[in-house]
Formats: sequence, C-alpha cells, structure tokens
Amino acid sequence: MTERLVIIGSGPAGLTAAIYAARAGLQPLMIEGSMAGGQLMLTTDVENYPGFPDGVMGPEMMQLFRRQAERFETRFITADVTRVDLSERPFGIWVGDDEHRAEAVIISTGATARWLEVPGEAPLVGHGVSACATCDGFFFREREIVVVGGGDSAMEEALFLTRFASRVTVIHRRDEFRASKIMAQRVMEHPKIDVRWDTVVEEVLGDGTVSGVLLRNVKTDAVEEFPTEGVFVAIGHDPNTSLFKGLLALNEKGYLETFENTATSIPGVFGAGDVVDFTYRQAVTAAGSGCRAAIDAERWLENQE
Ligand code: NAP
Repeated sequence: MTERLVIIGSGPAGLTAAIYAARAGLQPLMIEGSMAGGQLMLTTDVENYPGFPDGVMGPEMMQLFRRQAERFETRFITADVTRVDLSERPFGIWVGDDEHRAEAVIISTGATARWLEVPGEAPLVGHGVSACATCDGFFFREREIVVVGGGDSAMEEALFLTRFASRVTVIHRRDEFRASKIMAQRVMEHPKIDVRWDTVVEEVLGDGTVSGVLLRNVKTDAVEEFPTEGVFVAIGHDPNTSLFKGLLALNEKGYLETFENTATSIPGVFGAGDVVDFTYRQAVTAAGSGCRAAIDAERWLENQE
C-alpha cells in the first residue's frame, strides 16, 4: 500500500505536521523514531510555549501533541528509519526490512545538541545541565552558572544568561574564542562574566541537581572542583540528516535546505523544524514550520492529481 504522506520524526514539527495533515484527510503515517518526542523529552519545565500559562513539562507537552495527532488518526511506528530512496515516486522508506511507500514525505528529524559526554552529565540533563539558555535560563535567577564552549552560541548564551544569573563563567578549551570578534568582546567586557581559558570540564558533580564541575587546565593539568548550580553546554548542534546525505541538498553545516517555502530539492519531500532551522530552534517555531510543511504537502499532492 502506498501512503499519501509519511512524516519522519516526532518533535513539535513532525507532530504538528501530523495534526494538520490528518485533519486534511491525508491519514499520515508517522515514523516517530525509537526515542520519540525530540529534544523536548530532555527538558523539564517549558514556560515559553503559548497556551500553557502555568508552564508544562517537556515530555508531557509532547504527549499532548501526540494525543492530538492520534485523535485525527495519525498512525505511528515507534522505530528509526534505516534507509530512504527518494530517487523515484512513490518514495521508499525502510524501517529495517519493512518497506513503506509514500507519495509525499515530511522530514522533521530535528537536531541533536552536542554534549560533553563526561561522567555526571547525562543523568543531570534537565536538573541543572542544559543545552538551551533560552529554554532554561529563567530557572537560574541569582545563581552562579557555567557555560561551556567558545563559539557564537556560547557567547550568545553567556550574555543572555547574565539577565538571570549572578555570575557566569565561560569555560573554553583553548586560549581564544572561535566566536566573532564582537560577540567575544562583549563577553570579555561583561562585568558579570569570567572566562576560564584552556580549561575542560572533566565531570559534572551533583546528586539529583548540579553542585559543581571538575575542571582541568589543559596546559598545567591542574584539577579543580568548581562549585556551580548550572552547566550550559553550548558546543554546537548536529542536524539529524545522515539518512539524506547525497539524496537531498544540505547546506555546508549539514542542515536540510529548503527552497520555496518548505520544499526540499526533491519535489514531494518537505522539511520542517530544527533539521532545517539552525537559527531559532524553538518548539513554537518548529511547530509553525510543521504546519507549513503539512499545508505545502497537501497542496502539492492536490496538484499531482
Ligand atoms: P561552533 O561555532 O562550532 O563552536 C563550538 C564551540 O564549542 C567551539 O568553540 C569549540 O571549541 C567548542 N567545542 C566543541 N566541542 C567541544 C567539546 N567536546 N568540549 C569542549 N568544547 C567544545 O558552534 P556554535 O557556537 O553552536 O555555532 C554554530 C554556527 O552558528 C556558527 O557558524 C556560528 O557563527 C553560528 N551562530 C551565530 C550566532 C550569531 O551570530 N548571533 C549565534 C549562534 C550561532 P574550539 O573553538 O576549540 O573548536
């Protein structure tokens, strides 16, 4: 059987696309991935999504998105897509040996924040360890926090966090920033920000919540326990596009390229959410682009008939 629409990826973009496509009668099949729900599954409170004046937990919000998509008869497969063939229509999408065919595809596979991958980090994500200052900065009012990284994201996060935190320490593994001069300058001149050069985080400390980090100076090898209540990891994101390399146009950073609205380089394949967007990366902007992709897919399918 050929599906009218397959949606790959189940964060806010994919699930919003599913809600719109399902209500348009396309009976979408969503392949939601083995770790369904996307990056919001790794956050705790979400306070900036409109419509939740009292805030909502990230995983609960994704549960609500999913229920809404299910209500209009989206079907789900909870597994990862292992291969796609976009060279002919209907497009081929495989989950292991199971083959699915689709007239149109929406790709909403998101991006993955790079983590330090040091002991103590993973269990404290959402409990003091974060990869998103816009999402979590608010919870660190009058706290002392660290930001790890030396690129524009780290500068932006450090400057943003000075609105809340009493002290921000930027920890960078080299003795100069990769960031643009102007951003680096702002960080170095900011009265609330200190910089630790040539320093890496070896471990995140804390039982239930973050209480500090173990730092090592890479030049002297000196190790130090540094008390802090928050660790913002800002060492970049990787778009989840490995399935599409060589098949669809990607930009130099590996993000999916869209051309007219949400259309990718292959007619009938659309892109939405963080897999396309390296600028805003918010749940609400991802949801908005999922809606656009569903409308684009619906119109495209209609024109094929
Ligand atoms: P990025 O430019 O790749 O910088 C990543 C930073 O993290 C680098 O300083 C890197 O150190 C460090 N790093 C990487 N892996 C690490 C590890 N395992 N441990 C410790 N440190 C590590 O990434 P980004 O800052 O997310 O920026 C991505 C792109 O978006 C850039 O092109 C940037 O200009 C752009 N951007 C622009 C703005 C803006 O203009 N407002 C804001 C955000 C992002 P090294 O320097 O030693 O490699």
